[in-house]
Amino acid sequence: MNILEVNDLNVYYGAIHAIKNISFEIKKGEIVTLIGANGAGKTSTLHAISGLITPRSGEISLNGMNITNKEAHKLLGLGMAHVPEGRRIFTNLTVLENLEMGAFIRNDKDKIKKDLNNIFDMFPRLAERKKQLAGTMSGGEQQMLAIARALMSRPELLLMDEPSMGLAPILVQEIFKTIEKINKENNVTILLVEQNAHMALSIANRAYVLETGKIIMSGDANELANNDDIKKAYLGG
Ligand code: ATP
Repeated sequence: MNILEVNDLNVYYGAIHAIKNISFEIKKGEIVTLIGANGAGKTSTLHAISGLITPRSGEISLNGMNITNKEAHKLLGLGMAHVPEGRRIFTNLTVLENLEMGAFIRNDKDKIKKDLNNIFDMFPRLAERKKQLAGTMSGGEQQMLAIARALMSRPELLLMDEPSMGLAPILVQEIFKTIEKINKENNVTILLVEQNAHMALSIANRAYVLETGKIIMSGDANELANNDDIKKAYLGG
C-alpha cells in the first residue's frame, strides 16, 4: 500500500517553474530517496508535501487522503513529520524541552514519557545533555535532536531534508545508521532528500533522480548506485 502519492506536481516561484509535473509514490515501510544537484527541486518537493508552500497544481495524498494544501501543523496529526533542512531546533530551549515540543500534538502523557525514554536509549548523547541548551550543541548533536524531536510525534512517515548537511564524515555515517534504525525498528517510512547520493542510495530501497525540476530516472537504489550515468553525475565517477 502507498503511504504517499504525489501526482503531476507543479511548483512555481513567480515565473520560475521549479517543479515540473513530477509524480512518485512511497510504499509503507520503504526508505525512498530523492537525489539531485543543488537547485534540482528537492527541498521544493518536500515543502509542497509538508504544506510549507502551495503547489500550482497536482495532488498529494497520505494514506489515500488528499492532503494537497493542508497546513503543515495538521499533517503532524495525520502521521507525517518533517525534519527540515538546517534542523530548525529551538536553540534557546533545552534538549528535553525541544523533545517535549515534538510531542505537543499528543495528550497521552504516560506514552510520551515512555517514548522519551526510548528516545534517550536510542540517542544516549541526548540523554547526557537533557538539560543543555540545544543551541550550544555540536552540529551532529543538533541533527540528532531534530530527528528525535520529529519522532516524538510518532510519525508513520518522516520527511528528511539533507540530514547530512554540514556534518563531518563520521557523523554522516552515524546519522545514516540512525535513519536505517528508525525505519527498521520503529517502522517509520522515510522520504530522504540528499545531496550525498552515495550514502542515500546505500540505505534506500528506491530512488528518484531530480534534475532541473523533473524526475529523470527512478528505480531500485542498488541498481541506480551501479548505473554508469548516475555514477558519473552524482557519485564522483
Ligand atoms: P538545494 O539542495 O540547494 O536546497 P534543491 O534541490 O532542494 O536544492 P530547491 O531549493 O527546491 O532545490 O530549488 C529549486 C529551484 O527553485 C531552484 O532553481 C531555486 O533557485 C528555486 N527556488 C527555491 N526557492 C525559491 C524561492 N523562495 N524563490 C525563488 N526561487 C526559489
